[in-house]
Amino acid sequence: AYDFTGQVALVTGAASGMGLATARAFAQAGAAVVLADLDHAAAERAAQELTDAGHQALGLACDVADEEQAAAMVARTVETYGRLDMAFNNAGIQAPPADAADETAADFDRVNAVNLRGIWACQKHELRQMRTQGSGAIVNCSSLGGLVGLPERAAYHASKHGVIGLTRSAAVEYAARGVRINAVCPGTIDTPMVADMLEGQAEAMAEIMKQQPIGRLGTADEIAAAVLWLCSPAASFVVGAALPVDGGFTAH
Ligand code: NAD
Repeated sequence: AYDFTGQVALVTGAASGMGLATARAFAQAGAAVVLADLDHAAAERAAQELTDAGHQALGLACDVADEEQAAAMVARTVETYGRLDMAFNNAGIQAPPADAADETAADFDRVNAVNLRGIWACQKHELRQMRTQGSGAIVNCSSLGGLVGLPERAAYHASKHGVIGLTRSAAVEYAARGVRINAVCPGTIDTPMVADMLEGQAEAMAEIMKQQPIGRLGTADEIAAAVLWLCSPAASFVVGAALPVDGGFTAH
């Protein structure tokens, strides 16, 4: 539905789940797409699939928890395609569920290094390019866990609440400089991350279904649709939003 011809999009965590769905959607809308992921081989395979279908795509290795790699990812994007118009900072990991009195510092640090500092680093280096251009749109991946608290998820929810904070701060700073920054807050989405988490846990799945007013899991394409809208001119007055795309989970 959108025409992003001539524009350049960057997606992190692009080898799987909602990152992959969003990279495909950007390509189908005409953008040149950089697919960055910790899993280099999977990122290259996904980029090749898009190239074979006639799109412009580049697969890159990047661990977003390492700021130098995040900087290099943006630099490669600009070297290859000349600019950066849209970024979906999506790479993220789960921490194992743990009682808040027992969660380890190692788990806290691991999840926050990727989910929070990783998005901070990507946003920082994307903004250096977008500030030079005087234009751009960034969408950061938070979660329903950025808006509410569920038990046994303190480290993960801290990271996702933090994503909304860094989104809002940079959004107000850059709104008048031509760069719009927003966050998307997915509910429970049918991706490999959730499949891994819920494998063999029928009871946990039934509990999640009860909490989703819409009565089903979301799809990665439904997140991609929200990200493309937030990046598009149709969302030109949307700044610093934390948009729930969650089948009503946070509405009740
Ligand atoms: P996924 O596990 O299917 O895909 C995540 C991708 O990120 C993988 O390809 C992985 O290799 C990559 N990745 C992991 N660590 C990385 C790192 N340090 N640097 C670069 N890439 C890295 O996950 P998904 O379900 O598509 O989740 C994507 C994002 O959405 C995450 O930030 C997640 O927290 C968030 N989220 C997911 C759900 C859900 O229900 N699936 C709900 C809310 C939020």
